[in-house]
Amino acid sequence: MTELSSSAPPRPVPGLPEAPGHLPEHWVAAYARGELSHDVLGHAEAHLERCRACVDAVDQAVRGGPHGPRLDALREALANRIG
Ligand SMILES: [Zn+2]
Repeated sequence: MTELSSSAPPRPVPGLPEAPGHLPEHWVAAYARGELSHDVLGHAEAHLERCRACVDAVDQAVRGGPHGPRLDALREALANRIG
């Protein structure tokens, strides 16, 4: 099944392992702790806007971390975009 899309594919981020399709686990973990580097934060959030699977992964990671409440607002915003 091919879906034409005007959105560009994720750009490779220098210095980071390739993440075909999904965010690397250590990104998810760092994001959940609020420690993801600003260099890649935009990349991660751009992916999270389109990928419910990774939102769920971040959500699960966040539930075990100290910044749970902060993700609720993010998830609401993302859920609104994803529908
Ligand atoms: Zn993903």
